[in-house]
Amino acid sequence: MSPASGDYGSAQPFGVSTEPSSRDEPGPGRRRQGLRVNAEADVAIVGGGIVGASAALFLRRRGLSVIVLDKGACGACASGVNYGGVRRQGRAPEQLPLSARAHELWAQLPDLIGIDGEYVRSGHLKLARTPEDLQALEDYRARTEGWDMDLRILDGAELRRRYAWLDPQLAGGSLCPEDGHANPRLVSPAFARAAADAGADVREQQRVVSAHHDGRGFVVCTQSGAEIRAHFLINCAGAWAGEIAAGFDEPVPETSIHPLMMVTEPLPPFMDVSLGMQGGGIYARQVARGNCVIGGGRGALQSDGYARPSRQELPTLLAKAAALLPPLRGAQVIRFWTGVEGSMPDHNPVLGASSTTPGLFHAFGLSGAGFQIGPAIGEVLSQLVADGKTSVPIDAFRIERYAASAHGAAPRAWSSREHTSE
Ligand SMILES: Cc1cc2nc3c(=O)[nH]c(=O)nc-3n(C[C@H](O)[C@H](O)[C@H](O)COP(=O)(O)OP(=O)(O)OC[C@H]3O[C@@H](n4cnc5c(N)ncnc54)[C@H](O)[C@@H]3O)c2cc1C
Repeated sequence: MSPASGDYGSAQPFGVSTEPSSRDEPGPGRRRQGLRVNAEADVAIVGGGIVGASAALFLRRRGLSVIVLDKGACGACASGVNYGGVRRQGRAPEQLPLSARAHELWAQLPDLIGIDGEYVRSGHLKLARTPEDLQALEDYRARTEGWDMDLRILDGAELRRRYAWLDPQLAGGSLCPEDGHANPRLVSPAFARAAADAGADVREQQRVVSAHHDGRGFVVCTQSGAEIRAHFLINCAGAWAGEIAAGFDEPVPETSIHPLMMVTEPLPPFMDVSLGMQGGGIYARQVARGNCVIGGGRGALQSDGYARPSRQELPTLLAKAAALLPPLRGAQVIRFWTGVEGSMPDHNPVLGASSTTPGLFHAFGLSGAGFQIGPAIGEVLSQLVADGKTSVPIDAFRIERYAASAHGAAPRAWSSREHTSE
């Protein structure tokens, strides 16, 4: 990963504009590009992905003034290019409270962002290749009872009866009837638009190059020379957030991952659930227009900080897709792509208050599965800022867990857990 270089935390401010502050400008929401205008707000947010934009929306609903700064277009990074899986099934138990709250928020999507985002509760079917995989799905169902997922275990015969279009060799599966999928290209930018409509000052093409606390508040500087002052700072800069945390003396082992995706030409409808695989490897869904969106494997990071599909992985993904989904044989793939996603060694986000700097909150490292929980993370951040607490248990996501391991604490067993980006 090669994040943009910058100075954070104790860094001296630089490039301070001499232009007057915009704090007295009239306050309707603004979404604007490349401004070099100083401003002041209750909360500054670095990153306008689904996390930052939903935090801005919920903060505006609490009446706080908010400035969102994004180095590009809001929702153009991981939040806008992901597979579109909106699932609870398969998440680690510590994520289920957050995921359950997100499930409620997704049901209110048109009220929140003004569009349905092609969100459908199609069901999420997690497939087992072997009897051992099926047992793992059964164990997960037993462990997560009480989270209202209503998981239904299907043996091989039942799977073949219900889903005749699947590879007949599968050992079974687990269906979560109310999980589903949505269009990330519509949903994530819509969160930023909704935040702006609610009164947030959303600034695109504004790369943050330094941030520190000057004793009175945060001072955030952008590459274009704007200086933003705020009482609170939220770091949700995705795969680039680790650098900001490090600047506040909180180094974390964030890396980036680049899940490989492809989409077919429109095909006659056949796949009426979103598919995943126990142990990972491939996932697939079909949209109303007939295109099948399929993920599996990894792309590669380029020196410019963007990621691209890697040629050697394409044949593997094509072969896996044709084996799992016989109706795809002979279909045309019209596009491959990937994205840049922040990932943590335990595949859990960093979420909560900074351990070094009062008023700073982190939310990053969503490890390939943050689209579904993104809106709930935004709501939690708004509660942490406005109330100083949240009712959603987030202790497992404290940034201190990495400080502790740096001082010799035993690594957690779940660091070797299955990892899938859907
Ligand atoms: C290909 C792919 C498939 C995925 N599939 C799924 C899925 O099916 N289901 C699921 O739940 N999750 C999935 N994910 C994960 C999910 O997309 C992410 O976890 C989630 O979108 C992260 O949201 P975010 O807002 O934290 O980060 P991002 O969307 O990456 O947003 C971070 C923002 O910060 C901005 N930024 C960074 N540095 C700076 C700076 N210095 N100054 C200003 N702005 C800055 C960036 O421009 C970016 O817009 C997938 C991810 C990828 C890449």
